[in-house]
Amino acid sequence: MKTVMLSVEKEADLQLAAELIRKGELVGIPTETVYGLGANGLDENAVRKIFAAKGRPADNPLILHIARPEQLEELCRDIPEKAWRLAERFWPGPLTMVLPVKPHIPKVTTANLDTLAVRCPKTEATRRLIELAGVPIAAPSANLSGKPSTTTARHVLKDMDGRIAAILDGGPCQVGVESTIVDLTGEKPRLLRPGGISPEELKEILGELLIDKAVLAQISHDEVVRAPGMKYKHYAPQAQVLIVKGSSAAAAAYVRENWSEGCAVMCFEEELPLYEGLSALAYGKAADVTTLSAGLFAALRELDREQIHTVYARCPEGGGVAYAVQNRLKKAAGFREIEVKEL
Ligand code: AMP
Ligand code: MG
Repeated sequence: MKTVMLSVEKEADLQLAAELIRKGELVGIPTETVYGLGANGLDENAVRKIFAAKGRPADNPLILHIARPEQLEELCRDIPEKAWRLAERFWPGPLTMVLPVKPHIPKVTTANLDTLAVRCPKTEATRRLIELAGVPIAAPSANLSGKPSTTTARHVLKDMDGRIAAILDGGPCQVGVESTIVDLTGEKPRLLRPGGISPEELKEILGELLIDKAVLAQISHDEVVRAPGMKYKHYAPQAQVLIVKGSSAAAAAYVRENWSEGCAVMCFEEELPLYEGLSALAYGKAADVTTLSAGLFAALRELDREQIHTVYARCPEGGGVAYAVQNRLKKAAGFREIEVKEL
């Protein structure tokens, strides 16, 4: 299959992308979080193609994307008042809600669960595409399963060339990490995945919020979890990632001491001078955490090379979107981190 590159700037391209979705084909789509691998979420065969193209395990459910918040009602039942309050505050935006599913949604989409994940993305062209397609678009991140997510159309082409009908180029993603997922089906709201909307922001609306253990630690393969995707290896380059915690100077001293050929550093722009002479890549500025979330996956993909066996990674501290960056880096590192001694 030849993968066609389309642009959100051209109306005809948006129309073509929508037609491909309606016909049951796969299209790489831009969103403010990461690129999605989109298909008609109501078409069982189309959804199966997503799992095949990504090599995604069948027990890892998908998120359905809608054009307008009200459409939530078409997909889910027993929607609590707090879901509408979250929608009012954060939609369109990087928040996914898990709610009881209506029976007409194919079982492959939900991986057989009786709940469904739904999001209304911020990117205007994407909402227009959904509107034109006339169906909710199922879209996981547009990467090969286990690899870092894609935040540019070029990344999508690298992983999906020949596997999907088209890619709709909307430029680089602004947020850069996947949506925040909150499960509203339990007694208390539960954070399943941190993202662009922080736990603090959610608590302003929800009052209380449990943090799922999949967010905090490695989940073993045979464990039954609420967010089935969370137990799989994620975001990982081939190399072993090791998070180095501590001050900039102490971390750099540690890295220099342990350096060998085949090592690389993923650090903050401000720290680059400390790694002079070593293979170091800055993924954003410590002073502006949104540049770190936006640059994270591009850096992990860049460092996914055979010659590199170890990546020393610097991780921002604190809440907000830094919390999502910590979560993705910890997963990429298999939760391996070292606290270095201060000099
Ligand atoms: P991806 O789009 O590839 O980042 O994956 C979507 C994420 O949403 C996965 O981690 C899924 O486990 C999660 N998800 C989707 N549907 C549900 C659901 N019904 N309940 C819990 N988690 C879900
Ligand atoms: Mg993913």
